[in-house]
Order: sequence, then structure tokens, then C-alpha cells
Amino acid sequence: MLIEMSENSIAQTIARLRTEIREHDYRYYVLAEPVISDYEYDQLLRRLRELEEQHPELVTPDSPTQRVGGQPITGFTQVRHSVAMLSIDNTYNETELREFDARVRKGLEGASYRYVVDPKIDGVAISLRYEDGRLTQAATRGDGEVGDDVTHTIRTIRAIPLQLRGEDYPETLEVRGEVYWPLEAFRRFNEQLEAAGEATFANPRNATTGTLKQLNPRGIERRGLAFMAHGVGELQWKNISPPATQSALFEKFRSWGLPVNPCLQIMDSIEAVIDFVPRWDEKRRKLPYLTDGLVIKVDDFAQREQMGTTSRYPRWAIAYKYPAEQARTRLCDVTFQVGKLGTITPVAELEPVLLAGTTVKRASLHNFDQVARLGVQIGDTVVVEKAGEIIPQVVSVVTDDTQIAAGFSPREAASLQRRPILPPQQCPVCKGTAEKDVNGVYIRCINPTCPAQVRERLIYFCGRDQMDIAGMGEAVIDKLLEKKWITTYADIFQLAARRAELKGLEFQQERTIKGERRTIPVPLGEKRVAKLLESIEQRKQQPLSRLLAALNIPHVGTATAELLADHFGSMDALRQADEPALLQVSGVGPELARSLQKFFSSTSGQQILAELHTVGVNMTQPRRTTMEHQPLAGQTWVVTGTLEKFTRTEIEARIKQLGGMVAGSVSKKTSYLLAGIDPGSKLEKARSLGVKVISESDFMKMIGGA
Ligand SMILES: [Zn+2]
Repeated sequence: MLIEMSENSIAQTIARLRTEIREHDYRYYVLAEPVISDYEYDQLLRRLRELEEQHPELVTPDSPTQRVGGQPITGFTQVRHSVAMLSIDNTYNETELREFDARVRKGLEGASYRYVVDPKIDGVAISLRYEDGRLTQAATRGDGEVGDDVTHTIRTIRAIPLQLRGEDYPETLEVRGEVYWPLEAFRRFNEQLEAAGEATFANPRNATTGTLKQLNPRGIERRGLAFMAHGVGELQWKNISPPATQSALFEKFRSWGLPVNPCLQIMDSIEAVIDFVPRWDEKRRKLPYLTDGLVIKVDDFAQREQMGTTSRYPRWAIAYKYPAEQARTRLCDVTFQVGKLGTITPVAELEPVLLAGTTVKRASLHNFDQVARLGVQIGDTVVVEKAGEIIPQVVSVVTDDTQIAAGFSPREAASLQRRPILPPQQCPVCKGTAEKDVNGVYIRCINPTCPAQVRERLIYFCGRDQMDIAGMGEAVIDKLLEKKWITTYADIFQLAARRAELKGLEFQQERTIKGERRTIPVPLGEKRVAKLLESIEQRKQQPLSRLLAALNIPHVGTATAELLADHFGSMDALRQADEPALLQVSGVGPELARSLQKFFSSTSGQQILAELHTVGVNMTQPRRTTMEHQPLAGQTWVVTGTLEKFTRTEIEARIKQLGGMVAGSVSKKTSYLLAGIDPGSKLEKARSLGVKVISESDFMKMIGGA
């Protein structure tokens, strides 16, 4: 009786936590009025996860904990849309907007109508299917009739409710909307990729498509994708009269926890829309995500019905698209940039050109695959585009034909001096060997003491998301390198000994002297040196996660560093962790585990840590792990033979979820051998070593599941 009571109250606590978490999601994503910090939110989620781990029988698919850690899929299932996902006809000018309006007026035979006007987010169109308020399926647009089932990746997006709020939602609801990558989250994720020495994404929309089409949903929640609803597919109401207009339905959407664009407007005439177009062009650039236009739709559902669709487009909607921000210019030369892990990137040096309000002189060519794809050569006229107003890039080459059209004679066009862009044979900075990567896309300088790499690593080490040393910008670092006062991370923490010399360091600065702008050398000075040294001293106490992120270990970005630091609590514990122990941390894969082990076992890695330790840099932080509450914490398990209730992947996931580690072979360190049918040689080995052997049903009893 007593036990039942407590189980009841646990079920109640779990239900309360879920409601609370959903309420915070609603406040954050729909109302944009969060009332708790991210940290507090994580604590709620952690508490819920702990309880669910102790009571796996209470886990439901719509629990907020079930967004992450879903099983990978082996391929995409196709989904036939019950209502076609038509695209919307595009226009680029006022005349066509007026023509659209004339068709609407004619179609509605003089009835009055109004428009809903929504920003056109540059993302990926998705259809979300809710049955009795529960998210049951998510699909891409595909060809409009049939798309791919991407439920496994969509579930990881916090802005998309797994369960609708309230009670007055329809029996069946298909929400159409846009999944997109907010610019700040996109920037941060690229930083992490860079930290890992991996290729960065150029365009948020393409990267979003790639993310949704991953087979394995693991780790996707950390990318920070977002969602906004912009339409509706199938709708079936029970006993409730449905809203008559999109604007009324969207009010409902919001109350059910579905994010709708707060910039959405209702307009009475096409003239109001036309008036809005140029004003919006300025405002949209300040939004935290990319938009490429406006979508204009008749608000009333019955009127939409009356107008119908063509074979491709609804007649009641049109998209106004702002012209892409592109410019033409000449590619004068290509230089090579050496990244902090040695990656050599080709950079286009351009004839300066005005693009989206700024002068562009350089643009990324990404890698040599991209150079080959574009067929670009030095001397070509190229089209540059600002990919989401982030980094300009070369998107295409203007062909000879176009140059002829632009007024060059055929002979001139052909004789415009062109030369191919060749991958460098050696590092442009240290002249050391440049090698092709395993996959052949990247070229790297393999000299670890390459000055270009050392510089980039030091800049990164001091960066805002790493050690965050105020006053250690690129110019200061360059000067310190030039003076040879720093070459290692540890050197930074000994700069206090050079206080007097630092004050005298001179930097070129623009000053007005007797009404004239002049560039003169200005010393760093007492105040700035004091601030710099104070910051360096303080940052010795940064938590382990920041230090780990700062060390430029391939694959260890800011987020991974946090996971590792939370789990291990100290550099020593992390250093001693073997591969199974590392893999036990959620979010750590074999590649990362190998990279860490390589760093800790290398002479240079050991030297870096020893030096940082000597100068007094902190290498610990409080552990934030739930291991104490996990029944298999501290145990190493080996599984052999065929199991009845689990596949191999499932059983390993379950053991890890309960805090245990899984190893591939039996040793003296093995706590348990879980033996299924036909166990083979591992069973004999376990017996000879005196390792405890248990059956699948013993295991089930042990973890308290059925
Ligand atoms: Zn080099």
C-alpha cells in the first residue's frame, strides 16, 4: 500500500515536471517571454530524466526527455501528404502584386477580403501531423505529393511541441511551417565545427536540410534549430466549430503551443502590402533569422476554397521575393588561409564591390572541391553573394557568353587573362609540407609548430567562448608573437612579469592631429595593461569546460567540452578515462574519444597540460552528473549471445542509460556478463576469471523492468 502511494506520487511528480517544462517551452518559443534561465530549465529536465530513469515504465513518447537519444533510422520512409504541399507562386515586382490582387477580386466576385502577410523565412518546409494533440509524424515537402518521414530529427527541435497545450485542438491537425537555423545558433555551431577542424556550413538553409535528413538524430538538439508555423494541411474537428480565417486559427495555434511569426500582419488592401514591401526590406535584415520575402494570402478559408488552386499553386496566395543580394566583380587573385588545425582554405581576393550595404573585398572559396565545381579561375568575372549576410562567397562564374553580352568582343572575352587556381604544394606560411586530407577535400599544413596555426590557436584560446581573456585581441596577439613573448598557452599566464615592457608596446592607430587624420604609433599604456593582466589572472579560474574547449583538440567544441567537464569533473579524471568510459558520456562518439586519447597520450598534449598546471590554471569543476542515482553506475558490462527482448544496440543503450559502461571483451574489470542464447567463448572466459554471469531475465529483474 505504502509503495503504491509513493509510486503514485512519483507519477504525479513526473506529470507535474512535464507540464512545467512544456509551459516553459511555450513561454520561450511562442510568447518569447521566458521566465527561467536556461540553467534552471536544464535542471527541471534533468530532474525529470532522473525520475524516468528510475521508473522506465512511466516514460511516454511525448515526454520532453524523449526528444533526444532516439534510435537512428536505416533509411527514409515516404509519406503521402493527405493535403498536397503546394509551393507558392513567386513575384518580384509591384505590377505582378497588383495583377494577383485583380485575380483575387475577380475570383471573389466583389466580396470584401483581406490579406494575412507573413515573412517568408528562408528555411525548410515541413508538415507536422498531430493526432489527438500528439505529434505523430513529420514529413518534408518532397515533390508536394510525397515527402520523407523525418519525425526522428524533428522531435529534437524544442520549438515543436510533442504534445499540444490546452484541450480544444482538432482530432487531426496538420501544421505546415518552416524549420530554420537562427543565425546566432548557426554561427555558434560553425565555431564548434571549426574548433573540431571540420568543414563549416556555408548556408543555414542547406545546413538545415542536411540536419533533418540525418539518419541518426543524436546530438541534433544542440544545433538549436527553430520552427514557425505558416499554414495548415488536413484539419478534422470534433464538435467544435472551426475558426473561419487563418488569423483566427493562428491565435489557436499559439494557445496550443505552436510558434507563429510575431511579425504576421493583417492588411486590408494590396496597396497596404505594396507600401509595406520596401519598409520591410530594412526591418527584415535585423531579424535573428534569414528571410527572403513576404507571403501574402487571403485570410478567409471559405474564400480560399472558392478560389481553388491551379495544378501547381494556390490561387489565393503569392510570395513577394526580394532580389538576392548578389554582385559581380573580378577575381583578382587567390590567397591561402591556414586554420588553427592546419586546414588551408582558398580565399578569393576581389575587386572591391558594394554588396548589401558593405564593401566586399574577399570571399570564401571553401575548398578545392568547390573550386572545381565552380570551374573558377583567377581573372574570371564572378558572382558573389552574401550567404545569409554572413560570409560573402563566390557562387558562380560569369561565362564568356555573358561577357560578350556585357560588351566585350569575343576576342577580348577569350583573351581576358585567366589562370587556374592550384592547390598549394606547401604551406603558404611555414613552407612545410601540405598534405591532402583522407577524403581529399581539404589540404592541411602538417607542421604543428607552423606560425600561422600557432597564431590561430592562440586567438581561439583567448576567445569569448573559450578562456575569454579581455584585451587579448588579434592585434595584441600578433605583437606578442612578433616579440616572441608568447608561443604557448602557458606563456600568456606569465605575461605579468613583463608589465613594464607591455606598457611600451606600440600599435598603429588613427588619431586627429591639428585637424588632420593621421596614423601614428600609440603605446598600450598603463590602464590597458592593468586590465589585460587582471583579466589573465582571473581567467586562470575558468571552469574546466572552458579550458577544454580552448585547447584546440580536434572534435572538442564548446558543447562537447561542457559534456565532458560535467561528467568527469577534472582534467585528471578525463585523462584517465579509457574508451568505454568516454563513450559512456552521452554525445561522445568514437571519433571524439580517439581524438581525446590521442591528445592525452601525445608528448605535446602532456606538455601543454603540465605547463598550464605549473602556471596555476584551474583544471576542475563541480561534477553535474546523475550517476549516483543510476543503478548500474560504475559497472562495466559485456553482452554475449542472442537476447530475446533487445537487439544489441538496444541493450547497450539501456545499460548506458542506467549508468553502466559496455565493453567489447571480458576482462578482470568486467562487473557482469549478460549472456543470451549461444553465448560462446566469452562465457568461458568470464567463468575462468570469476566474473558474474547473469541471464536476460535476471537483468530485467535487476533493473526493475518487465
Ligand atoms: Zn604551415
